[in-house]
Amino acid sequence: MIKNIAVIGAGLAGTTIASLIKGNSNVRIFEKSKDVGGRMSTRKETPFHFDHGAQFFKINTIDFKNFLLDLCTHKIIKPWNFRLAHFEGQYLKKIKSIEDKDRFFVGVPNMDSIIKYLSKNSNVILNTKIERIVRKNGKWNLYDQNKKSYGLYDWVILSLPAQQSLELISNKISFYPLIEKIKMKGCFSLMVGMNKSFNLEYDAALIEKEDIAWFAINNSKPGRINKNCLVINSSYEYASKNMNTSKEIVLKHLLRKSCKFLNYDLSKSNIIKIHQWKYVEAECAPEENFFIDHKEKIAVCGDWFINSRVEGAFISANELSKEIIK
Ligand SMILES: Cc1cc2nc3c(=O)[nH]c(=O)nc-3n(C[C@H](O)[C@H](O)[C@H](O)COP(=O)(O)OP(=O)(O)OC[C@H]3O[C@@H](n4cnc5c(N)ncnc54)[C@H](O)[C@@H]3O)c2cc1C
Repeated sequence: MIKNIAVIGAGLAGTTIASLIKGNSNVRIFEKSKDVGGRMSTRKETPFHFDHGAQFFKINTIDFKNFLLDLCTHKIIKPWNFRLAHFEGQYLKKIKSIEDKDRFFVGVPNMDSIIKYLSKNSNVILNTKIERIVRKNGKWNLYDQNKKSYGLYDWVILSLPAQQSLELISNKISFYPLIEKIKMKGCFSLMVGMNKSFNLEYDAALIEKEDIAWFAINNSKPGRINKNCLVINSSYEYASKNMNTSKEIVLKHLLRKSCKFLNYDLSKSNIIKIHQWKYVEAECAPEENFFIDHKEKIAVCGDWFINSRVEGAFISANELSKEIIK
C-alpha cells in the first residue's frame, strides 16, 4: 500500500530522500524558509548573488557521482577552477591552482540551483516551520508555527541539523539520547557586493589564526553574473564566542578584519550583509549513517551523520532511502 511520508527540511538531504522514495510513496516536503536549499542556499541581493553556505563540494563515492549524472548533463553542476591561497594571519604561505582534475564542484548558476533542480517534481511546502509532530492512532500529524495542522502521515523523516531534530521529538523515540550527544559548531558569513572589479592573485583563501577563516570571490565560480560578490566566513572560534553578540557588531568586526586582510576599503561597497549559521559542522559523528525508529515510524538523516559536508548529506539520505523502501 502507498504510504504518506512527510519530510521536514528542504536541504540536500531532504530533497535527495524525497526524490529517491517518491516512486513508492506520497511524499511532501516542509521547509521553514521562503526557498529550498538549506545550507546550500544562495542569498540574492539583486544584482548581487552570494553562495553564503556551502562553497563547493567534492564527489568521492560512485553513488554520489551516479546520483549527480543528470545534473552534470544539464550543466547544473560544474567544476570550479580557481586559485586557492593559504594564509597564516596576514602571511601568504602558498597559492594552489585548483583544476578540473581536483574535482571541486559548484551549482550553476548558483549553489541553490542543485536543490531547485532536485526538488522540481516534488511537493514542497515553503514558509512552513514544523513546530510540533504528534503521533496518534498510528499516524503522525504535523503542526506549523501558526498551529495549522497538515494532515496524517505514516512516516516522518527529519532532514535537519541535530539540535533542530531534537526540538521536534520526545524522549520516547529510541534515538533521542543519541541525537542529544551531537553538538554543532556555527559561523558567520559576511557578504560584500560591489560594482568595481577586484584584482587579487587568488580567488579564494583559507586563513589560519584569524577571526576570518575563508574568503571567496563568488563570481570566480562558473556561470555567475559579472558582479563582484565576496563571501567571507568567520572562524568557528570567533563564532562560538559571539553567538549572542548583535549582528551589527559582528558585521563591523568582520568587515574591519576583511579590510585589513585585503588591504582594501570595503566599507563603501554597494551591499554589505551578515548571516549567522548556528549549525555548520558536528563536533563528532554518530556511528550510524541515519537513525530510524521502526515502531514509531520516524527517521532522521543529514550531513552530520557522516562528515558535515554536502556529500555526507547525500550519503545519509541515500542510505535511509534504501531502508524506507525496504
Ligand atoms: C557557511 C557554510 C559553509 C559550508 N561549506 C561547505 C563546503 O565548502 N563544502 C561542503 O561539502 N559542505 C559545506 N558546508 C556544509 C553543507 O552546506 C551541508 O553539509 C549540507 O548543505 C547539509 O545539508 P542537509 O540537508 O543535511 O541540511 P540543511 O541544508 O541544513 O537542511 C535542513 C533544512 O531544514 C530546514 N528546517 C529546519 N528546521 C525546520 C523546521 N522545523 N521545519 C521546516 N524546515 C526546517 C532548514 O531551513 C533547511 O532548509 C557548509 C555549510 C555552511 C553553513
